[in-house]
Amino acid sequence: MRELLDPERLAAFKAWLEANGAEIRSPTSPYELLRFRTGRGIGVVYSNADKTKVSKSGYEVFAAWHSWITRTPWRAAPRVASIGRRRQGVVKALLKRDGENCFYCKEPLGEDISIEHFVARTHGGPNHMANMVLTHHKCNQEVGHLSVREKITLRETWGQK
Ligand SMILES: [Zn+2]
Repeated sequence: MRELLDPERLAAFKAWLEANGAEIRSPTSPYELLRFRTGRGIGVVYSNADKTKVSKSGYEVFAAWHSWITRTPWRAAPRVASIGRRRQGVVKALLKRDGENCFYCKEPLGEDISIEHFVARTHGGPNHMANMVLTHHKCNQEVGHLSVREKITLRETWGQK
């Protein structure tokens, strides 16, 4: 890992991390050569004061460094925030497609929005917009892992029970 004392090698490693989805952070002390973040946590590479030795901390550095030296693929896990942003995009698109009422009870969703997989993931339903509708959290829970047929029947008779 001492090659990271060479600024050019360090820059190459940084660029590789970034290209594979890691977020490069500013060092928080003069001993830090590199600090980065992924969905699995923070990775830091340190040097000693006279810049002769390198050490690392965080699982992510071990995994990334191993892939770097063995030239095997490595991807930073996405951060939760970016999953949240993706979810927001899906919700927006579904509101536009289906309107602002709950798919099951047909009452306005308001802020209480959950994404329901019409064919449940556990029944092999795809994680794709074509298989998603918006519901209240409570309504989503109520349909649980019903079959599609049961869901349709439930939707048709909702409010009449
Ligand atoms: Zn509802």
